Amino acid sequence: NRVINLKYYQRLLRILDAKPRELQAHLLPWLDYPYNTHTDGIILIGDAGGFPCPLEAEGIYPAMVTGKIAAEVAAEAVSSGDFSKDSLKKFDEGWKKTSIGEEFEAGAELWNIWKALPFSPKETMSWFIPMIMEILGGIFDWSQPHTKRVRQILSHVKSYMPKATPFIMKNVFPLACRKKDIPRTLQEILEEASVTAKDVRRSISILIRELNFKTQATDPVALIPRYISDLGLDSEIEILTKKILTTYISNFSISGKDPKGLCA
Ligand SMILES: Cc1cc2nc3c(=O)[nH]c(=O)nc-3n(C[C@H](O)[C@H](O)[C@H](O)COP(=O)(O)OP(=O)(O)OC[C@H]3O[C@@H](n4cnc5c(N)ncnc54)[C@H](O)[C@@H]3O)c2cc1C
Repeated sequence: NRVINLKYYQRLLRILDAKPRELQAHLLPWLDYPYNTHTDGIILIGDAGGFPCPLEAEGIYPAMVTGKIAAEVAAEAVSSGDFSKDSLKKFDEGWKKTSIGEEFEAGAELWNIWKALPFSPKETMSWFIPMIMEILGGIFDWSQPHTKRVRQILSHVKSYMPKATPFIMKNVFPLACRKKDIPRTLQEILEEASVTAKDVRRSISILIRELNFKTQATDPVALIPRYISDLGLDSEIEILTKKILTTYISNFSISGKDPKGLCA
């Protein structure tokens, strides 16, 4: 009933002149990264492997892509007679090279964005749904010239910004900064930037102050994916490394220790 009573749901029912008959719910795996996708003689694809998109859990395309790769790896295993876990790791290597793998590189951030939207309705629904309706509905409103509509849409969208900005800064900005769930050091930013270290430092402190950011020390666990990828190691070692480092951090103080050194 909570869903049926939502204002926008009611509006949709009115527009469609429809009556709700029944509500059904179905479970889906929704992970920020698939793990344990294969073992001796077994490859898990699609939903079984945890492949629905980490943002909105759409799973048909990932199921088809992982299904195709699994079939290729299985065919190779049949010809060589080697069904060992080690041989089937080609499955992981395969999907990681596709757009599905690229999507999961930012899995944690994408997962957080979606978790914060529909699952925190009080915080976000007051601006997210109205803003999306405004943008989508507005574009398809032919009662006025598009040039005029676009200006109106922009001014409406602007009015949602005070509510949207904290969400964007908290959930979307980190995604833009760390597309691959990997923090960048100041040195790396400087290598890409065409300005001086002093300018970058000053800009960062202005951003922190103006946006009221709480700066956090670099999490050494968050650095692991980059080391794993640079060393060409597989996801199993990544999971094990994360476990070792997390256990170490929960048992010993790491204050004053270099996060990069801890990770290495
Ligand atoms: C309500 C809903 C809406 C969705 N909307 C979208 C969408 O719009 N876009 C999108 O991309 N994704 C959507 N998804 C997700 C998408 O449906 C799944 O991610 C996708 O179907 C996964 O494909 P799959 O082949 O891995 O698994 P499935 O499609 O679940 O196929 C598994 C099959 O195995 C069968 N099976 C299970 N156990 C056994 C057994 N013991 N023996 C034999 N057969 C067995 C099942 O009956 C099923 O047919 C939606 C999911 C739900 C629940």
